[in-house]
Amino acid sequence: MTVLELDEINTYYGNSHVLHDVSLELAEGEVVALLGRNGAGKTTTMRSIMGVTPPRDGTVRFDGADLDGLSPDERNELGVNLVPEDRRVFPTLTVQENLTLAHKLADDPRPVEEMYELFPVLDPLRSNQGQNMSGGEQQMLAVARALIQRPKVLLLDEPTEGLAPVIVDDLREMLHDVVSEDVTVLLSEQNVNFAFDLATRGYIIDTGEIVYEGTIEELQQRDDLLERYLAVS
Ligand code: ATP
Repeated sequence: MTVLELDEINTYYGNSHVLHDVSLELAEGEVVALLGRNGAGKTTTMRSIMGVTPPRDGTVRFDGADLDGLSPDERNELGVNLVPEDRRVFPTLTVQENLTLAHKLADDPRPVEEMYELFPVLDPLRSNQGQNMSGGEQQMLAVARALIQRPKVLLLDEPTEGLAPVIVDDLREMLHDVVSEDVTVLLSEQNVNFAFDLATRGYIIDTGEIVYEGTIEELQQRDDLLERYLAVS
């Protein structure tokens, strides 16, 4: 069953036309990669889905319903949850406080303790403030905070951005556990190997257009595309 569907959306910043007829769909439980280099339109796609920068035309459907006109908060309440590139962990709140706050705001939250099981790295950091954590720890906290709300669709915008390779490995391991649960994920990445490891299908976006769609196995055979659109050789 299709959970999230983008049907030929066009998104602008003022007069600047950034997304051109972008269509993609995610079936329930799927982990789908959105691959593209800097400035290709990944974040704008995420913002379009959330309604932060709503498309000027085209349709975003969630569970079959058109989301047009709904605010980001309303989309969130329906079960669409974005972990933005900059993570937005509350800097002066501790890990525990960040998680408790998310727990309080959700209608049917998961227990905070479950998040420490899923992200053991966070356990010893319970009383650390967000601002004193590394980028990788903040990323894990941001994902944990989203998962507490039992999202139906989790949008992960470049989770590896700015992280050291060893931390990327930790994050990959923990996200493996996350994606084996029944959540549908759209993962935007420039880090192709990271995305290949977690996703089963992928789209390539370039200058605001989807230029390829296929399974990860297919993509792995397409060195030409990876080189052309992602500068991987
Ligand atoms: P990145 O890895 O840099 O986040 P991205 O694939 O997420 O890349 P977007 O952030 O979606 O790309 O940017 C797509 C295009 O839109 C780029 O050309 C960018 O310069 C432009 N853009 C992004 N945000 C704005 C904005 N607020 N106003 C005007 N143009 C913008």
